[in-house]
Amino acid sequence: MNREEGAWGSSVGGRLREMFHLLKTRFGPQQWWPADTPLEVMVGAVLTQNTNWKNVEKAILNLKKKDLLSLERLYGLAPEALAREIRPAGYYNIKARRLKNLMEFVMTQYQGDLEALKQEALPTLRQGLLSVNGVGPETADSILLYALQRPVFVVDAYTHRILIRHAMADEQATYQDLQELFVMHLPDDPSLYNEFHALIVQAGKHYCRKNPVCESCPLKTWGNLPVAPDVR
Ligand code: SF4
Repeated sequence: MNREEGAWGSSVGGRLREMFHLLKTRFGPQQWWPADTPLEVMVGAVLTQNTNWKNVEKAILNLKKKDLLSLERLYGLAPEALAREIRPAGYYNIKARRLKNLMEFVMTQYQGDLEALKQEALPTLRQGLLSVNGVGPETADSILLYALQRPVFVVDAYTHRILIRHAMADEQATYQDLQELFVMHLPDDPSLYNEFHALIVQAGKHYCRKNPVCESCPLKTWGNLPVAPDVR
């Protein structure tokens, strides 16, 4: 698929623009990612798998208190010791291994230089991140967008659910299908992608839950009204 001319003016682009403005008007600027450094974003992107952000914050605080939030220290730490510190994030043994794998990737492929990651060709870097055991598309893309400011749209379960319920995607749509829907119809702008994904998470968390709360949702007037059987 080719990027459409005048992305904001295309019909799909127009609907996405409307979605963005409705969400932004309700929720305001999100200014993600809540982290002090790119490394903290990377660590948070792994820790947030299958848990809520409050638990991630506790785990990151543990790492900060012990001055462990550096590439070299995380890389050098025994998996069991790392698992102890990140326990509040849940699945701590698995996540400790995943974090170690990610640190190893940066240390061995980029000599621990996050600036070198920023300079790497995007397809090469994305492929590299996806080759790390425990890093899937959402984690890789969160790192690319929020740690490295690369123009990559992050898709999550909320994105899928909202698009399905508004007849913009079907159940079978893959991660890549949904990502293309955004990047092919929106300007190539990391700050827009940053804000858009964060706003979708707000809508998903507060309104588009398993049992949706359409009546007070900012998207209740968006495009086709919800059409999924469960929200009619
Ligand atoms: S209007 Fe309903 S279906 Fe649409 S996003 Fe909001 S809660 Fe979900």
